Amino acid sequence: MSTSTLTLEQEFNPWEAQAARFDLAAQKLNLDEGIWKIMRYPSREIIVHIPVLMDSGKIEVFTGFRVQHSIARGPAKGGVRYAPDVTLDEVRALASWMTWKCAVVNIPFGGAKGGIICDPKKMSQTELERMTRRYTAELVEFIGPEKDVPAPDVNTNEQTMAWMMDTYSMHMRQTVTSVVTGKPLALGGSRGRREATGRGVMIVCDEAIRKLGLQRSSTRVVVQGFGNVGSYAAKLMCEAGYKIIGIAEIDGGLYNTNGIDINALFAHKERNRGIQGFSGAEPHDPKELLVADCEILIPAATEAVITSRNAERVKARILCEGANGPTTAAADEILADKKVFVVPDILANAGGVTTSYFEWVQDRQGFFWREDVVNEQLKDIMVGSFAEVVHYAETHQVNNRIAAYMLAIDRVGRTIKTRGIYA
Ligand code: GLU
Repeated sequence: MSTSTLTLEQEFNPWEAQAARFDLAAQKLNLDEGIWKIMRYPSREIIVHIPVLMDSGKIEVFTGFRVQHSIARGPAKGGVRYAPDVTLDEVRALASWMTWKCAVVNIPFGGAKGGIICDPKKMSQTELERMTRRYTAELVEFIGPEKDVPAPDVNTNEQTMAWMMDTYSMHMRQTVTSVVTGKPLALGGSRGRREATGRGVMIVCDEAIRKLGLQRSSTRVVVQGFGNVGSYAAKLMCEAGYKIIGIAEIDGGLYNTNGIDINALFAHKERNRGIQGFSGAEPHDPKELLVADCEILIPAATEAVITSRNAERVKARILCEGANGPTTAAADEILADKKVFVVPDILANAGGVTTSYFEWVQDRQGFFWREDVVNEQLKDIMVGSFAEVVHYAETHQVNNRIAAYMLAIDRVGRTIKTRGIYA
């Protein structure tokens, strides 16, 4: 379907956003029709209804999903998110994006994603723990170091992974650290994993500004989202000399043309459980920050924030997608006309899963690397993948996003073809 004929509802549906790019890239690759059919849809979708004893003594039932899009190149891999608006279509899209992301950076994983419809902000730690453990128990035969390896995503963290690892291990009657990644260091986590997605974002921004002839010190950056990805991208980029002029959160934004001291903002957030009221910047409308005058815009929160409604007003020269699916397919065309240099999500935020791969390798080796070794390996992969995507775009005369999809689809497609179809 052409993106110009999409209804607004379709434009904002992440599955449609994924499918539109997949179809376009597959068409440009002249992909075999059968392989196209296999890769267009997930290979397995699991829905679980999870009874949880709440602190009040009442029982609540939550709906959870795990979608495994592909295991062609290795175990399925991808995060688990907790949010009130999680849908199966969203998890499907995110699972497919994981397949493409792992293939773009050429790590030996397929793609998966999980989610539970819940409002974690209204739940206690003990309720979250019981919900996480029951969700893991329901999935116990579908996950595993060689099957499907979950990780943190929106509203889940190292503690969530610790509970998942422990629950799985109790069922297996042995400690299995490599069943999930993004764990605390003491439980088989990797040094550098917490900052990895943000670090990867910085690495590709470095490559993008080099390509456009810009310098860090004169590059103004706006970051949307101050969660795991946005906060560490902003912190590392600030420390590296970029000027972070805007931070946008759902409940308000911050703006300072002279640059925001991100370490001070971290300390403020720690004390106040949010960025509001920070004295080192002016309050600003978060929606307007997306279209503020800057060189780099980093959407690092959720899907569909750059859309047909605001893409025309984006002033950034570089759009670096820290989040999964922050740009709709209809907005792609507008950004292309405006010659915005897009570093697509499946490349820009791949630092997280790449370091998850290192964590999985370290757990299986039982040998843990120094942080500088992790960061060096991450840089190698991100710099190499950036160069491959940009080169592919230039040689095939497509934009960076479609180039990344083509590269990924081609890699996964060749694997499926070579393995053959088991009858
Ligand atoms: N949730 C992250 C992502 O979307 C990390 C996934 C992983 O480490 O497996 O890429």
